[in-house]
Amino acid sequence: MANLQAILAYQEIDRKMFALEREISESAERKAYLRLRKYMEGAQDKLDSLEAKAASLKTEAVELTKKYLATEETLKDFENLDELVENGGADIEFYKKKANSVLEKMRKIKADLASLEKRIKETDEEYKALKQEVKGKQKDYKEASEKFNAYKATKEATKKEIDGELKAASVGVEEEVLTRYKTKRKEKIFPVFGAINLGRCPFCSMEPPIAEISKLKGGGTIECEHCHRVLYGE
Ligand SMILES: [Zn+2]
Repeated sequence: MANLQAILAYQEIDRKMFALEREISESAERKAYLRLRKYMEGAQDKLDSLEAKAASLKTEAVELTKKYLATEETLKDFENLDELVENGGADIEFYKKKANSVLEKMRKIKADLASLEKRIKETDEEYKALKQEVKGKQKDYKEASEKFNAYKATKEATKKEIDGELKAASVGVEEEVLTRYKTKRKEKIFPVFGAINLGRCPFCSMEPPIAEISKLKGGGTIECEHCHRVLYGE
């Protein structure tokens, strides 16, 4: 099958491209760059969440302050307590108890507010410290990014050369086959095409069903259900 030979020849050239891509992907330059990028992204997420936390704590504090003032307002009801008792003969113990419970409520709100303020301060401090840390890493990140770009630039000529070879080799490949190949390749599958070996996938050793294998007669291809590579007859 002429077309198969063409894509296999193409695949052989592509082997060099795959190796080059792997070399770049596994380079120390890329790893250093990715490590810092991950740190920067994580730090930004953390800063955002600290900011949101601080805002919500501050809203809580405003609400609690309002509650405190409203509670304090009810104390006014007890200002004329002496009059109430004298004129109406009301039970002074009852009012005393009531006033005390209001005071108790105020004390409780005040304690809650204090702990809330402490948490706001801690959140602010954590935010500032992280912001400072990020600032320090920014230079490293920029350097790592430049280093990685410079490293990639050194591979550019080789890449172009292989690209040219691939382009030349693609001329003999049927459009549909090439598209199929490139789609697989984008999914990081390599090699894409392989000859079935003693009824098994040569890449993952899976045994395709007999019905599938029969499709290989006459030059057909099938896809391995396990590793999704394209298989052709022996
Ligand atoms: Zn397979």
